[in-house]
Amino acid sequence: MIKGLPGSMTRLIEEFSKMPGIGTRSAKRLTFYILQSSREKVETLLRNIKEVKENVRFCSICNNLSEKEICSICSDETRDSSAVCVVAGPSGVIAMEKTGAYKGLYHVLLGEISPLDGMGPEDLKIKELVERINKTGIKEVIIATDFTTEGETTALYLQEVLNPLKIKVTRLARGVPAGGSIEYADVSTLERAFEERGGV
Ligand SMILES: [Zn+2]
Repeated sequence: MIKGLPGSMTRLIEEFSKMPGIGTRSAKRLTFYILQSSREKVETLLRNIKEVKENVRFCSICNNLSEKEICSICSDETRDSSAVCVVAGPSGVIAMEKTGAYKGLYHVLLGEISPLDGMGPEDLKIKELVERINKTGIKEVIIATDFTTEGETTALYLQEVLNPLKIKVTRLARGVPAGGSIEYADVSTLERAFEERGGV
């Protein structure tokens, strides 16, 4: 309970504070914003939250977020289906798409190898990647996991798994700072890292 505030407001502040990047101060600000908003605005917000939860799922081909069974990138026939860029999560797709330099498809692993968090290769969509390569005409895999310990471990593991498959395997060049997440790399750095990607 926050002294001087109705219980419902306190509860909403508590819920907001659980969200990433939201401290108590921001949580209070959001709660007062909602209190002052029109009923319509609040209903739109509630509907959007519900729709995200109900409609968004993982693409059955690449595991990117999608409202349909197959995402807009996988179903775009103008894209180069011979190249697949492997990223840890959907934010990697957003980062690569921002560069505009890449026209191929993606494969989202939905995680990185991280023994401390109990995440092993079998918890990632690696088996699905290999199946996809075997079934389709993929000729190049670009590994775009982060340059963090987990990202590098995942990249090394992928190289081992993919090397016997007789396809070109490249890794984003080290324009992205060591320890860095591709999500936070600026667009030109990421674009250069893609252009200068190297064989592994
Ligand atoms: Zn897809």
